[in-house]
Parts: sequence; structure tokens; C-alpha cells
Amino acid sequence: MTRTAIQLVHRLQKMSLPRLFLLSISFSVVTTEIIIGAMGVFLKGEISYDYLLTGFLASLCVAALISSVLIFFLNLQRLDEDALRTSEERWKFALEGSGDGVWDWNLQTGEVFFSQRCKEILGYDEADYESRILSWESTIYPDDFHRVMTELRAHLDGNTDSYSNEHRAQYKDGNWKWLLTRGKVISRDANGKALRMIGTQTDISQRKQAEEAIQLAALVFENGSEGMVVTAADGTIVAINPSFTLLTGYTPEEVIGKNPRILQSGRQDAMFYQAMWSNLIATGHWEGEIWNRRKNGEIYAEWLSINSIFNSDGSVNRRVALFSDITKRKQSEELIWKQANFDPLTGLPNRSMFRDRLEQAVKQSRRAGLPLALMFIDLDRFKEINDTLGHEVGDALLVDAAQRLSHCVRNTDTVARLGGDEFTVILGDFDDYDSAERIAQTILNSLAQPFQLGAEKSQISASIGITFYPKDATGLDDLLKNADQAMYAAKDKGRNAYCCFTPSMQDAILNRIQLTADLREALADNQFQVYYQPVVDITTGVIGKAEALIRWHHPMRGLINPDDFIVLAEETGLIIDIGAWVLRTACSQVNVWRNQGQLSLRIAVNVSARQFHDVHFIDTVRGVLAETGLPPEALELEITEGMMMHNMEHTIAIIRTLRELGVQISEDDFGTGYSSLNYLKQFPIHTLKIDKSFIRDIGSDSDDAALVIAIIAMAKSLHLSIVAEGVETEEQLAFLRAQGCTQCQGFLFAKPMPEQEFGAFLAAPRKD
Ligand code: C2E
Ligand code: MG
Ligand code: MG
Repeated sequence: MTRTAIQLVHRLQKMSLPRLFLLSISFSVVTTEIIIGAMGVFLKGEISYDYLLTGFLASLCVAALISSVLIFFLNLQRLDEDALRTSEERWKFALEGSGDGVWDWNLQTGEVFFSQRCKEILGYDEADYESRILSWESTIYPDDFHRVMTELRAHLDGNTDSYSNEHRAQYKDGNWKWLLTRGKVISRDANGKALRMIGTQTDISQRKQAEEAIQLAALVFENGSEGMVVTAADGTIVAINPSFTLLTGYTPEEVIGKNPRILQSGRQDAMFYQAMWSNLIATGHWEGEIWNRRKNGEIYAEWLSINSIFNSDGSVNRRVALFSDITKRKQSEELIWKQANFDPLTGLPNRSMFRDRLEQAVKQSRRAGLPLALMFIDLDRFKEINDTLGHEVGDALLVDAAQRLSHCVRNTDTVARLGGDEFTVILGDFDDYDSAERIAQTILNSLAQPFQLGAEKSQISASIGITFYPKDATGLDDLLKNADQAMYAAKDKGRNAYCCFTPSMQDAILNRIQLTADLREALADNQFQVYYQPVVDITTGVIGKAEALIRWHHPMRGLINPDDFIVLAEETGLIIDIGAWVLRTACSQVNVWRNQGQLSLRIAVNVSARQFHDVHFIDTVRGVLAETGLPPEALELEITEGMMMHNMEHTIAIIRTLRELGVQISEDDFGTGYSSLNYLKQFPIHTLKIDKSFIRDIGSDSDDAALVIAIIAMAKSLHLSIVAEGVETEEQLAFLRAQGCTQCQGFLFAKPMPEQEFGAFLAAPRKD
């Protein structure tokens, strides 16, 4: 009965009805039960009516008492449960509010209550997250699963006070999140078996990411190959990494608490650091190249990047500097730059650097309103030295010449090597044009000093072309062209000279171009003629030989001498055909004279370098001899010293072949080139022709006289015959005769003449 009442009350109680109502209900139920019981006894006649009434009243009192006690106890229980629920709701609410999810696990049923937040953390909503522990387990990252379960089991078994675990769990979209799951068993049975466990779940992904970032940063700091320094706002070093020590040599103990200026090399001035700091203060950042000094004193280049970390009020908290050693890179950059801009042999600026410097010099000259001089310097006959003494000696000469040039100018001027034996000088900031000419003369004098090249002593000269900015030209290309033209003018002047550019040089160039065009027509148009000059045996007066000298009858310009067009003919290659024509004409003419009685008359024909080294040259000679019927011994080919020095072995081979044909070889203009007895011995020549420049000055220049004596003596010792050319006076003749020279050529005997005239000259009776 009472159980029914208790159950009823209990149920009603759950309905949260007012307490008075509960009391009356419970009272009614108890009373009704008593009355029903009493009525049953009374009806059976076991008790009297009075007794029933008294008993009934007494029962009522007891019922009221029981009801009250019942209600009291039920109320007490309800109060406990309310309190528990209220407290649970409070902490659940508090935890949910803090962003943590709450879970409540009934281990007896396996049911888990997951709060809304718990589900949200993994991206689920109420409906699609099963409230079973299994569904929670399935979200755990496989690698973390074992650890999670081990720690959970330990707590359930009562081995730990609480459970706390960080692990990854799968988000609804498949990604992984870091969760912190904490819990505690709050109820165990008498055997200690866990019945209920409650706990929280926190999304710690962000914290984990931050931790990972910090770990990574620490890893980079510790292991990065770049040096790192952290300084406080006042610049004091607070931390360095191992690479800093590696790069600078300073250990943390040596630098922490100090200012990074201990690394300064002194290569950068105060201005540099001021600019760096003002940029750092303005933007919080600076990066650039800087030269610092290692602990061992070595200076090195680093690429430095400084960043600032600010406090919330904007003040600097820390500055972090990162640097790498770029010395090697700088060195290789410098090397590449040097290779690109400087001549490796002489160390002078090369063509590209020269152009830059010229551009700068022109700008500066424009700003300063002062002229600028540009010089082109070409070493005369350098090629001969290179060919005869070898490239190593040639290189040594160039190095020496470069140094001499540099000593002739100021540090601010530029001396450059354009290639080969071509140098340039840029003279800036001068106020009178004469000073440039004085410098040119100084250069000529300096280069004229003998060069000691190993065991050999050698002499060289130079030709210099000078042009002025802005007087002659304002554009770079025009200036270069002018200097070049002036240099050629200096060469034309006879070398070892300087020439200032004049506009007429431009005309000379145009003239040259026109002449070249005309030259192409000349051969076909029959404009050439061979003149003959006798070579006289001064011991007998016999004309043993004639030299064939070409003349050009230009339809507009009249007679042109070979010196004015042979070079053009060589440059254009026309000399091959022209030379063959001269050879054929001269050979056939001499054959005519021989047939007319001049039986021993021989002919000397000049051969140019290009012609001589032409692959068909020997065939041409052979062909002409066969064609004209001239005996080979009646032909002498005149080659110059320079030609002989060019590709010596090939030259010697050609000379040998010609000798085998029976043709004789003479060396023309002897003494003007790079004369060397050693080399002369190697060439199987027959005759030496002393250049007219020595003969001319025999009387006035004792040096020239001595040289002529030496050449004659040398030729004799080498069993070479000697021809003195350019003999104009009796004194010269007497001198030569006295020295034992037997053959002479010159105006004293006859000028070069056309064939008829020469024929007549041959036939004329001669006084001896
Ligand atoms: P070269 O072979 O040394 O010829 C001698 C030059 O000296 C000739 O000049 C001649 O006219 C000149 N001469 C001769 N005697 C005297 C003298 O007493 N006083 C002076 N001042 N000069 C004298 P040319 O004919 O003007 O020839 C100049 C050069 O042109 C020649 O010098 C030779 O190297 C070259 N040449 C001439 N004809 C030819 C040719 O057919 N082929 C080649 N490749 N070169 C030639
Ligand atoms: Mg000659
Ligand atoms: Mg000559």
C-alpha cells in the first residue's frame, strides 16, 4: 500500500506540483487505504461502529503523520536531485560557455551524453553524431588511438586521478583537429568499477598550430644556415643562433649583452649606418649588403635583413637580424665582372668598360664645360714581334706597354686595351688642347724606350690618333671613328707619330672608298702599266737587273704611285690578280729584251704578303715562266721582312719551292722591319735590299752609316748579295762602293721608266 503511495507521490512529485497539493493527495491516498482496510474489517463484523469511528479517527491521524513523513523524505530526495541537476547544469553551462564540450559517459549502458559544443567541435550537428562511445573512438587519429585508450584504461582502472589527453580527431570534412579531452570517473561500484565518467573536450588546434610554429621557428633558429641575432629595443644582443657563431666566430657568452657594432668592419662609413637606422626606424625593416668583421679579424660580406617586433603600444620589443655570408658570391661576382670588363692580360679596362668610361667622361666633360681627349694608340709592327718572338714575348711586351701607358696619364684618366695591340686613352678635365698633344708625345717617347723581353731587347713605336669632345664630335661613335682615322693618319705619316683629327681625314676616308671602287675597274680597263728601274752593278756598270714597279693611270686622277693603292689592293684581295698581271707583263717584257741582246738581264718583281701566301702563288709563277719562256734564274721575287716573319715555316717552305724552281728571292726594304740576324739565317734568300731610308741619311746620320756598314758585312758573311736602293748621290755611291756594296738602284742611275724608255736606256751606250 505504502509503496503504491510512494510511487504515486513520486510520480506526482516529478510533475513539480505544489507541496500542499502533494500533501493532500498523499494524505487522501493513505487515508483512503486505511478507510478501505477498516471498512473491510467492520463489514466482516469484527469490530464495532464506535471502535471503527475511533479507529478511523486514529487512523486519520496516523495517515496524516505518515503522509507528512513521506512527503518530507520525498522532498528531501527531490532537493538532492535538484541540487545535483542544478550544479551539473551550471558547470556544463560554464564549460560550454568557455568553448569546451562536455561529455557524460554511463559506463553501464555505454551511453554517452555529448554536449552540443562537443559535436560542433568536430563539425557535427545534433542529429548526426551518435551518442555512443564507439562513435567517439572512431574519430581518433590512428596513430594517437593506442595512447588515448591506454591512458583512458589507466584512469578507468583507478590508476590515475584524472584523465587528460591531447590527440587528433577527425573533423566531419575529413581533416584532423587537435583535441584536449579531460575527464574523471565520478562514480564507481563497491568493487571500484567505474560507472560514470564525465569530462570535457577542447579544440586545441590553434594552440597546437601555434606551438608547431614556435617549434619550427626554434628549429630554424637553431639549425638554420643563416646567422641570427635577436636584440632588445636598445640594441643589446639577447640571443644568437649557432650559425651566428659559425659565421662570426663569436660564442653566445662573448656577444650576449653587447651591441652588434662589435662586428663592424669599418668599411662602411657613418652615413651608411645612419641611412640604415633611419630606414629601420621608419619602416621596422632593413636589408642590404654589409661588410662585417669576424672575431679572427677577417672581413666578410653579408646579406643582412633586420626585422622588428613591436609591442602593442607600437614601441620596439625586439629586432631580429638574419644574415648570410656572401663573400664567395661577391668574389665570384667580382671575378665575373672583372672578366667582363677588364682585359685579363694587362688588367686594363676592355672594350666594353672603355665604352662605359667614355660615356661617363663625356657626361662629366659636358657638366664641367671642359673638353675631353680621346686617343687611339696602335703599336707599329707589333705583329712582327708576335710572329718572330712568339706570343708569350708579344704578351709580355703588351703588359709592359700597358704599364708605360698608365704611367703617362693621371689616375683619373682611363687607359684601356681594345684588343691586339690597340689601346685607348681618355683624358678628361684639361683646359688646353696642347696638353693632350704633350701627353701623346710622352706616350710615344715612353713606348720608344727598348723593351726587355726575357733575353731579347726589342724596340717598338706607336701611332696615335687624337680627337676632342666636343670640338670634333659629340657622339661616342663619331669620336671613336675620328680617333681611328687620326690614328691611321699617324701611320700614314710614317708611324711613331701622333695626329689630331681634322675633318679632311673624313675626306681621305671617302677618297679611299672611291679609289677602292675605281681599283676594281682598273685591271679590266687596262689602266696599269709596269715601269722599270735599273739595278746597276757598280763594279762593271752593267745593268744586270730591272725592278718592275707598277703604275696606275687613273682616268681622272692621272698617274698614281703604288704606295697609294697597293695597300687597298691588298685589303680588297685585288692584289692577287694585279700581282699576277705585273709578273706576266714584266717577265714577258724582260724576255723580249733578253731576246734583243740583253742576254743576262734579270727582272725583280715585288710580291705582296697576300699574294705570296695565296695557295695558287707557286702555280702562278710556274705558269708565267712557262707561258713567257723566261728562264727561272732570270726572275727574282722581292718579298719584305714582315711577310717573312708571318707564318715562318710556311714562308720558308714557299721560298724553298721557288728556289727549287730556280727563282731567286730577295728581301726588300731590309732594316725597316723587325730585323734579326737569327731569323735571317733561316730564310734561304739570295739578296738583301738595303732600304732607301738608310741610304738617304748615310752622309748626315752616322748611325745610319754604321747600320749600312753592318748590313753589308752581315750580308757578306751570310753569302748574300746586296742591293742598295734609293741611291741618289755620288757621295752615297762612293760610300757604298767603299763598303764593298756592288749593286745599286736609284735616281742617280735612272728613275723607274715605261718599257720603251727602259728599252732605249738599255740600248744607250753607258759611261763607266
Ligand atoms: P720598293 O720595292 O722598295 O721599290 C722601290 C721604290 O723606291 C720605288 O717606288 C722607286 O720608285 C723608289 N725609288 C727608287 N730609287 C729611288 C731613289 O733614288 N730615291 C727615292 N726617293 N725613291 C727611289 P715606287 O715605284 O713608288 O714603289 C713603291 C713601293 O710600292 C715599292 O717599294 C714596292 O714595295 C711597292 N710596289 C711597286 N710595284 C709593286 C708591285 O708590282 N707589286 C707590289 N706588291 N708592290 C709593288
Ligand atoms: Mg722592291
Ligand atoms: Mg724597297
